[in-house]
Amino acid sequence: MTTERTLSIIKPDATRRNLTGKVNAHLEAAGLRIVAQKRLWLSRAQAEAFYAVHRDRPFFNDLVKFMTSGPVVAQVLEGPNAVAKNREVMGATNPANAAPGTIRKDFAESIEANSVHGSDSLDNAKDEISFFFARTEIVG
Ligand code: ATP
Ligand code: MG
Repeated sequence: MTTERTLSIIKPDATRRNLTGKVNAHLEAAGLRIVAQKRLWLSRAQAEAFYAVHRDRPFFNDLVKFMTSGPVVAQVLEGPNAVAKNREVMGATNPANAAPGTIRKDFAESIEANSVHGSDSLDNAKDEISFFFARTEIVG
């Protein structure tokens, strides 16, 4: 097992329903350590840049609108195989397909308002962490 870091975002549907602590409890119960965390309201330009990989997808404009509809909590998670472990505890993109006990099964409202983001590879995790955090803000 390699210790990794991954980027997590608690999305606006979850902050709106005051679920930050409950999401964090799921992450910590899965063995992930929150080594950086900040609450912010993304600008349109920031959301478009973060999700640039989805620019050509039909849901892109709605996704940007949703991600800028309220505050988010950006986090760095650390632990053994953190990238895959976080994807596991998040559950499937569509909450209808998410396994019991996962964050999306327990909290997501829809395929779009699905409560959390998680990096999908170690390379993307590195890019996404540096999008939000300076090295001095990550305390392992
Ligand atoms: P994330 O990247 O947020 O961790 P993911 O990797 O499970 O989620 P992606 O395929 O990368 O899913 O899609 C990014 C986000 O775009 C999803 O989390 C969801 O909010 C939104 N999304 C994905 N597919 C759809 C869809 N068919 N309709 C509406 N929104 C969607
Ligand atoms: Mg993704």
